[in-house]
Amino acid sequence: MANSREVELVIVGAGVAGCTAALYAKRYGVDVVMLDKGIAGGQLLTAPLIENYPGFPDGISGPELSQRIHQQVANYGVEIVQEETTNIKRHDDGRWVVQTNNGEWLTVAIIIATGVVPRSLNVPGEKELRGRGVSYCATCDGFLFRGETVAVVGGGNTAVEDAMYLADICEKVYLIHRRERLRADSYLGQRMIDGGNIEPLWNTVVQEIIGAEEVEQLRLRNTRTDAEWLLPVSGVFIAIGEIAHTDWLEDLLELDNGFIRTDMSMRTNQPGIFAAGDIRDTVIRQVTTAVGDATIAAYSAYQYVAQHRGEAYGEYTGP
Ligand code: NAP
Repeated sequence: MANSREVELVIVGAGVAGCTAALYAKRYGVDVVMLDKGIAGGQLLTAPLIENYPGFPDGISGPELSQRIHQQVANYGVEIVQEETTNIKRHDDGRWVVQTNNGEWLTVAIIIATGVVPRSLNVPGEKELRGRGVSYCATCDGFLFRGETVAVVGGGNTAVEDAMYLADICEKVYLIHRRERLRADSYLGQRMIDGGNIEPLWNTVVQEIIGAEEVEQLRLRNTRTDAEWLLPVSGVFIAIGEIAHTDWLEDLLELDNGFIRTDMSMRTNQPGIFAAGDIRDTVIRQVTTAVGDATIAAYSAYQYVAQHRGEAYGEYTGP
């Protein structure tokens, strides 16, 4: 028989947004559970150094910040249940049923904070050599390439930060970017150029990742001249942005390019379902915005739950 449990609020995703929402929900006295399908922590776990989160003048590593947030959540007694959410359905009584790989949760409100995952290059060799030189996380795998030559693909903040992180560990780092101008913040770009052992390869794309057992070289193409050449590297770190995995929600929620549409109160088009953090259709995806979103989402969810309990709150009017 399916494992059936009841709570007032289910938070899907235990990254920074989910955890912040859980802290606030707990403080509002809401009966809350957090579900996460894997190692809780989300994108924070892949950030080498976060320098723009207030309160840490020397910066803090993503894994350390994540660990501190989880400690705080644990101190509040919030339960993180390791279950993968597979579907959300309306119950006959107006509540929601969150289905997971281990049963279901009957709940009044839901906050979806499942974040994003790294985008793939989709070139030959990428899938085959994943974990054998192909990585999407410099912080997690960089130490494996100590003293070696590696490449980072991408021109955004993540790629530049990854390149700088790897430059301290590796002999040499190539930054491969498809244009001749970085998307990353200019101060980061300047720091990278000043770094010394990082060589940018502008107007360059990866055509193929080559290696018998492990990555040995990249077949590159210059987009201006169409010239192709082989670059020997022992690792390639792909940092070309992020995508939202929301296929399972597309019949339920309004999405934009896969990201969940909300109003300023983090309400989706379904009453009682809220979204926060990188999964949301928003102008900027930062740790700070995830924290802000989650604070608002938790407050909105609390109001919704209070209304369901019969406490004094106004009618739900939707986005
Ligand atoms: P991003 O800003 O979307 O940058 C993605 C980069 O990958 C772009 O340079 C893009 O090239 C390139 N790219 C995309 N698809 C590609 C493909 N198929 N082949 C080759 N190159 C491709 O992603 P991100 O760097 O992961 O950052 C995501 C968000 O997190 C951003 O909002 C960013 O500001 C934020 N973030 C902030 C910090 C910080 O504040 N310190 C650190 C990390 C991330 P084009 O430029 O040509 O489009």
